[in-house]
Amino acid sequence: MRISIVGSGYVGLVTGACLAEMGNDVLCVDTDASKIRLLSAGSIPIYEPGLPELVERNSAAGRLRFTTDFASSIAHGLIIFIAVGTPAAEDGSADLQHVLAVADKVGSLLTDYRVIVNKSTVPVGTADRVQAQIGMRLSERGVQTRFAVASNPEFLKEGAAIDDFMRPDRVVIGSEDDEAISLLRSLYAPFTRNHDRLHVMDVRSAELTKYAANAMLATRISFVNDLARLAEKVGADIELVRRGIGSDRRIGTHFLYAGAGYGGSCFPKDVRALVHTGREYGIDLEVLTAVDRVNHRQKRILADKVVSRFGEQLNGRTLAIWGLAFKPETDDMREAPSLVVLEELVKRGARVQAYDPIAATAAQRLVAHLSGVNFVSDRMRAVEGADALLVMTEWREFRSPELTALKKLLRSPIIFDGRNLFEPSTMAAGGFEYYAVGRGDTL
Ligand code: NAD
Repeated sequence: MRISIVGSGYVGLVTGACLAEMGNDVLCVDTDASKIRLLSAGSIPIYEPGLPELVERNSAAGRLRFTTDFASSIAHGLIIFIAVGTPAAEDGSADLQHVLAVADKVGSLLTDYRVIVNKSTVPVGTADRVQAQIGMRLSERGVQTRFAVASNPEFLKEGAAIDDFMRPDRVVIGSEDDEAISLLRSLYAPFTRNHDRLHVMDVRSAELTKYAANAMLATRISFVNDLARLAEKVGADIELVRRGIGSDRRIGTHFLYAGAGYGGSCFPKDVRALVHTGREYGIDLEVLTAVDRVNHRQKRILADKVVSRFGEQLNGRTLAIWGLAFKPETDDMREAPSLVVLEELVKRGARVQAYDPIAATAAQRLVAHLSGVNFVSDRMRAVEGADALLVMTEWREFRSPELTALKKLLRSPIIFDGRNLFEPSTMAAGGFEYYAVGRGDTL
């Protein structure tokens, strides 16, 4: 099938590469000329395991191409995916300017039947707005053609995006147009062969499904983080509590890890956008308002613990940070908790030695305004002479540190663990002062 993808970011690029892998003829378009130049030259502008090989193989086979020419992409694809960003606006709502700009261009160029599929995460009612925008441009041009607008929210996780796309838990298609549904069914058939994982529904339900999924996952994280605070006060271990409740199949263990809060390009903005949609319709989504509030507090937790331990002023202190990305296996720094911690530590006069195996370059750009942050290229160099180590991301290479070496390099053997990577008893036996999240210590 001929497919066009508008937006070559995490979602657009993975979608394009995976659809090409199944034999489709895919053309990706983006307004960012430097990104398209890189992609056309065989470089991948983001870090996503498995993606470079997939892009290389399908580009070489001629099934995956990149362009900045919007007109050719509209001419090319019978199905046109919109996968542009929908960042948070100031008031917390989803900023739809990119989605509507694409709709506008589609309407200005369309000449015959196309299915426009919205893959970006957008508030309920956006498909109607896209439909209206395209319709308005068509009628201005005096062009009469049928087209369909469908919703197909994306559920991939950065870091495991290829696998998620290739073996999805489900594919949601929101449309009332039989031809569009049938085209999308056949496009996704190879991905859902072994189990019928296709959920066809009305557009509004599809749009809400995406927000509901992210809101549920964020709720589990804030729930356990709230309980972790109590666990610390009452002398319980949230890790044991997690296992204790997770063994109940109705609950499960996933997404119940206490830590330094959730970040990334999706959960924070999607929770806020859903609360905003609620308000627009006179519904106060109280649980989700609390989820967001708890997460705000949680992102500061390691900085707060450092202050409780060392005092309000951190002048003369050097702190090591392991991990900057909001989660492992990605270079995505959007809304990463490490940013909040870095800001807070530097504001109080600390010097920071930061290490991340992949996200350092992206992080450097975001904290260029902070003086006193030194990015190093090795995890052991980060801890040299530091008063304490803060663990912000659970990269695999942090899981089994050489404790003797670590202790030798640190000025004082203190660890603040924002991802509960280590056993408190092992750390105590190794002579470390160890502060985790919800595990009995009372800082
Ligand atoms: P991104 O910022 O990585 O990529 C968006 C791309 O769209 C950029 O390359 C940008 O240059 C391009 N773009 C913007 N306006 C354009 C236009 N008018 N024409 C062509 N290209 C344009 O974003 P992303 O992380 O891929 O997210 C895209 C959407 O998917 C968002 O709505 C997001 O919420 C949703 N989503 C993201 C993830 C994720 O893990 N990143 C997962 C599921 C859903």
